[in-house]
Amino acid sequence: MKSIIVVSGTPGVGKTTLAKLLAKRLNFNYIHIGELAKRIGAVIGYDKERKADIIDIKKVSKHLAGLKPDKEIIADTHVVEAIPPEKVKKVIVLRLDPRKLYERLSERGYPADKIAENVESEVLGTCYIDSVKHFGSDKVAQIDVTEKSIEELIEIASRIITENLRYNEDIDWAEKLGNNLAELLTKIARARFHR
Ligand code: ADP
Ligand code: MG
Repeated sequence: MKSIIVVSGTPGVGKTTLAKLLAKRLNFNYIHIGELAKRIGAVIGYDKERKADIIDIKKVSKHLAGLKPDKEIIADTHVVEAIPPEKVKKVIVLRLDPRKLYERLSERGYPADKIAENVESEVLGTCYIDSVKHFGSDKVAQIDVTEKSIEELIEIASRIITENLRYNEDIDWAEKLGNNLAELLTKIARARFHR
């Protein structure tokens, strides 16, 4: 059975960039779950506050469960619940220094509320926790991408997938950043009031 490799992480950490290059390198199919949802009619609404499509998780999951692909699939998503766990071989969660994430999301022109929500998710490790809950800790790898080149990331991810490398960086932004994190969160909270 051909299986699915999930690349997950908070929006802005670099999933799409890495997942596409990785698919090319390993000769796997690349699937962007948000785009797949549109294609199969699984977008059931639009969240104005978040400026994001609302997807029918069950419909996407059923669709993926029924696929008979000719190659392994790399699935790019932060919505891990949309991926059927029984099809999944590995989950790679990308983590990025919240200060850098803040910069990237600001450059993307995201509204203050959406920046706050995503930076907070990254601080709490929401994608990682959701992945462990949904897929089980044995399948989930975690990489701090902050100081790594894209080549390094491809190398690590390839080994996780093809050599079953156990790779799980211990990431705790609160512990690592201390006061710098407090400053960032204050700045973000203030920005939400000045719209
Ligand atoms: P995601 O799919 O997780 O939202 P993207 O792959 O779209 O993230 O990347 C978000 C932004 O960060 C893009 O502008 C991209 O060019 C940049 N980026 C992604 N990966 C890296 C990296 N390893 N080093 C530097 N910039 C990166
Ligand atoms: Mg993306």
